[in-house]
Amino acid sequence: MVWRDDEHEGQAERLPGGWRGRCACGWSGPSHVTATLLDPSLPPAVEGEIHREWAAHLPPPSLRALRQAAAAAQSAQEHLEAAVRAARADGRSWADIGAAAGITRQSAHERWAKACG
Ligand SMILES: [Zn+2]
Repeated sequence: MVWRDDEHEGQAERLPGGWRGRCACGWSGPSHVTATLLDPSLPPAVEGEIHREWAAHLPPPSLRALRQAAAAAQSAQEHLEAAVRAARADGRSWADIGAAAGITRQSAHERWAKACG
């Protein structure tokens, strides 16, 4: 069984003397001792416990929302700079670019001249 959540992908990992949870992010949970040599299957109760431990290591919804918002802002910033570069390559003035972006010519120049030329 593999559990997925955003960038997290967890599963129960078999150890010589039992099981523990592991996640693609690097997290690993405590060992749960079972008789793996006698019975290599993962007991459902242990799997449930490991799944609860894995779910508890996930970031809280507020931080997940913040990370998604920051990623969206970064993406929008890159999109905006690409559009400014395209406008500059098209010969548009800082006044035209500022007007299109809803800011002054001077603000547009200060904001993008270094990055966009
Ligand atoms: Zn994780």
